[in-house]
Amino acid sequence: MTSPLPELLFEHTFAEQLEDLCLFCRPARVPAPRLVLFNSGLARYLGMDPETLAGAPGAELFSGNVLPGGVKPVAQAYAGHQFGYFNPRLGDGRAVLIGEFRDPEGQLWDIQLKGTGPTPFSRGGDGKAALGPMLREYLMGEAMTALGIASTRGLAVVVTGEQVIREEPLPGAILTRIAASHIRVGTFQYARANNDREQLRKLADYSIMRHYPELLSLQGGTRYLSFLQAVAERQARLIARWMGVGFIHGVMNTDNMSIAGETIDYGPCAFMDVYNEQTVFSSIDHLGRYAYGAQPGIGQWNLVRLAESLVPLVDSVPGHAAELLTGCLNAFPGQYREAWREVLGCKIGLAAPGPQDSELLEELLKILADSQEDYTQFFRRLSLWLRGTDPLSQGLPSLGTHWQSWLGRWRSRVTAVEGTPETVSAAMDAVNPLYVPRNHQVEIALAAASRAGDFQPFHRLLDVVTHPFSPRPEWAPYVEPMPADFGPYRTFCGT
Ligand code: AMP
Ligand code: MG
Repeated sequence: MTSPLPELLFEHTFAEQLEDLCLFCRPARVPAPRLVLFNSGLARYLGMDPETLAGAPGAELFSGNVLPGGVKPVAQAYAGHQFGYFNPRLGDGRAVLIGEFRDPEGQLWDIQLKGTGPTPFSRGGDGKAALGPMLREYLMGEAMTALGIASTRGLAVVVTGEQVIREEPLPGAILTRIAASHIRVGTFQYARANNDREQLRKLADYSIMRHYPELLSLQGGTRYLSFLQAVAERQARLIARWMGVGFIHGVMNTDNMSIAGETIDYGPCAFMDVYNEQTVFSSIDHLGRYAYGAQPGIGQWNLVRLAESLVPLVDSVPGHAAELLTGCLNAFPGQYREAWREVLGCKIGLAAPGPQDSELLEELLKILADSQEDYTQFFRRLSLWLRGTDPLSQGLPSLGTHWQSWLGRWRSRVTAVEGTPETVSAAMDAVNPLYVPRNHQVEIALAAASRAGDFQPFHRLLDVVTHPFSPRPEWAPYVEPMPADFGPYRTFCGT
């Protein structure tokens, strides 16, 4: 195979340094690849030339039909707890890592093709992906990025020209995914289950080198304890950011939690409309394990699985290691509480909320829960109220005096510490999105693209959710919650 894109140089640090954690796997040839989405902004950011990638050569590359010379595609191995049950061998069943790309700043990015056909980890699956779920993943990654939330991102979506068989035949597609890395909690569980301390150490040192290089100067068990703490800190911040925008990942299995702290594997994810901790949209989450309000606790549960995997690296006496790792993890609830206080505080205009604000914040959540208000709209209305241009208090009649009292206390607090109502409102509007990918809008856009080949609604929605903070009159419909006759809304796994 010769490449039309000789200027793209890929590195293979994972495949070369961790050869026991991946298997060579060539993408299956697809009949008629056509590029339907190309992220030229991301390409430019990575230091790629969008011009040469956007056309037919891009379709060949991003379908995996033609790979640059020397590229060594691999499927990565990982294990994972899925809904609490351990599977020792999951791995990339429908994706291959074609290599890593170094941006102009010297940072390495994984370039993965998702939906490229069977791999040694496919376990009977076809290894393919349908267009709808790949568009969903692209859209969500861009929306999260625009919201300032760490996420893997789509560089391209190619339709393959073949159909994939699900409950019905659907157009097949491949997503090119960019990630800081695809190392997961499940990757550590896999190495741990192999009972090979050297392999585990290599994985941990590789992860530290890529994501936490400041820890390389630490020696012995301290390095891996600090690693756990650093991963936990990033997860605490990430999940707090999810909670701040009402994002529900939907399938927080340990194989879907990134060591780099990015949001990864957008399957049955969705944005909450009415504030309710129990909100679940995923059709497979019958018990609400991954409900909106359960996410911080599940984050910790997953980190315990990471800690268990690190035991052999921390101390030769497992009991000692467990004690030290537990000590680290005990910090997580506090780390999360602080991250959440900061996120929620910012949403109501407090630049540096302290423990003294906890009561105000907790009360707000109670009021929100009682109000049945739309979570996204609520914070924008709060800022309008502060400016005096929205009678929000009258919009919430059932809350009565409690609500009035909260508003009064809040206004005194923010205007005393943070500035005039105008400056506080402006700060709030810079962190509270007007536009999130509302579930019904996502469905409408995906259905048009997937069923009728009409990408216009998708492009419009992508435009809206990648400019989440500034109002535009023509985007008014995207502010509106899901119409009552649309539901009940369910999301399905991205297979
Ligand atoms: P996910 O739900 O995308 O996180 O996937 C969970 C596991 O199932 C991973 O190991 C995937 O690689 C695998 N998987 C998902 N869909 C397919 C498919 N169509 N064919 C083969 N493996 C799959
Ligand atoms: Mg996954």
